[in-house]
Amino acid sequence: MADEQVRTGLGVSGGFAHGPVVVVAPTVRAPRDEPPPDDVGAAAASVTTALADVATELERRAASTRGEAAEILTATALIARDRSLVTAARAHLDAGEGPATATESAVEDFAAQLEAVGGYVAERVADLRDVGARAVAHLLGVPAPGVPRLTERSVVVADDLAPAETAALDRDLVAAIVTSAGGRTGHTAIIAAQREIPAVVQCRGATDIAPGTIVAVDGDEGSVTLAPHEETLAALARRTELRAAALAAGRGPGRTSDGHPVALLANVGDVADVEEATAQDVEGVGLLRTEFLFLSAKAAPTLHEQAEAYRRVLAPFAGRRVVVRTLDAGADKPLAFADLGPEDNPALGRRGMRLSRARPDLLDTQLAALADAARDTDTDLRVMAPMIATVEEAAWFVERVRAHGLPSAGVMVEVPAAALRSRQVLAEVDFASIGTNDLAQYTLAADRTQGELADLLDPWQPAVLDLVAATGEGAAATGTPLGVCGEAGGDPLLALVLVGLGATSLSMAPSRAPMVRYALARHTLAACRDIAHAARGAADASRARRAALDLADPGLRELL
Ligand code: PEP
Ligand code: MG
Repeated sequence: MADEQVRTGLGVSGGFAHGPVVVVAPTVRAPRDEPPPDDVGAAAASVTTALADVATELERRAASTRGEAAEILTATALIARDRSLVTAARAHLDAGEGPATATESAVEDFAAQLEAVGGYVAERVADLRDVGARAVAHLLGVPAPGVPRLTERSVVVADDLAPAETAALDRDLVAAIVTSAGGRTGHTAIIAAQREIPAVVQCRGATDIAPGTIVAVDGDEGSVTLAPHEETLAALARRTELRAAALAAGRGPGRTSDGHPVALLANVGDVADVEEATAQDVEGVGLLRTEFLFLSAKAAPTLHEQAEAYRRVLAPFAGRRVVVRTLDAGADKPLAFADLGPEDNPALGRRGMRLSRARPDLLDTQLAALADAARDTDTDLRVMAPMIATVEEAAWFVERVRAHGLPSAGVMVEVPAAALRSRQVLAEVDFASIGTNDLAQYTLAADRTQGELADLLDPWQPAVLDLVAATGEGAAATGTPLGVCGEAGGDPLLALVLVGLGATSLSMAPSRAPMVRYALARHTLAACRDIAHAARGAADASRARRAALDLADPGLRELL
């Protein structure tokens, strides 16, 4: 039998599926030799019509879908309706460019502006270019770029999917998604997970796979098997079944098999996430990323507006814990109203707590709003600060939280300095939570937004595990509850390691909770410690994972 070819990438939405490959049509570009317009007025009118038609088409698709997908399509349609695009295109037409070229030039003018702002704002560039490409296709009279009309359940393969494309995918006809670009936190990953479509991103050479080739996609492992054998398909299908059965069996609070409690909590960023979290069996919220609530706000939200927003998040969790993180603005999450000006290295600049020190008014308004919301809702509210590096910062934050009458003040441990000095830092606070996303970024000096650095950003890196262990020791010495709220907390195998290193709660995308609950229930605390010890003893990230896997219970191993 011929060997199967397996391509690997990052699994960003779990599950297994197989089907024929459909490759997404590449973006249409304006012809290099497009002649200048004979009639600039008529050319401007055709650009206006093209953009309006693109907007109408996107709105039509938004109307036939729901939730985040509809929001993304609507937001993209708004870009197409923005008159300033036409105005910018008109200037290029006046300068002698043809209509398609002028449209592209206008798009690139705006893209450069958005990219200069950076972070989430820069992510809108993908939407903007998508609008441009659609308008150019319209002007040239060729089919719009993107996913062709599907007639059977297929695996959609692309270099990257525009947000509008991902949002418009028909769940019934899309078996899985594979992209050669993209990242763990990109739109493709978020929407695929929301719609439970298995997805693998960062899969090198994906677009070279011939259309029609049958592939098996494992969104948990991040693998794509070309022309899979019957046995491979059967093994993957069996594992999916086992997983479903195992997950359906477990409910209730997280605990190890010998009864050591490990609270399973949800990471949330907006009201849609809250809805998803309340549908899952979680013990509360371990991380509310408050900056996500105000990403599009131009002016600082008032105390009243904030209190309203927090009430909406807190109310569904009455009687349960909700850990709210104060604004982590800056770097990859810029907020227009909390901008201290351009910086050469925003990730190392005045972000998170440092921004709060520079703008204490923002922090005080937020804490006052949280205190208001807490009074009106019967929730176990705990407040924590991002990006704490020193004891002094921790003490400053705690004092401010207490001054607002809030009962519980904690810090995130995501800067190596805080992990190394956790005994002293944690002595100041009521609780702490490790942010493995930033801890990996700062430990390995690898930009977390750069997909190509995924190997370095791997939370299995033994250096990251060492810092988690150091924090665990600090937590034990000071008797401080210690959570983990980075992506690592949702990896069932790594969760065992984190508990073995001293984590007492784990916060994750809510859909990951059942698998983590299952993993914990099959291991004693002592086994978690042995697994953690073995992982830390490994020379690199993949060997650390392998060492943990070798010691894991077979009942978990067969599901991974
Ligand atoms: C982290 O850094 O791990 C974390 C949980 O916070 P964020 O991803 O929002 O920076
Ligand atoms: Mg962080």
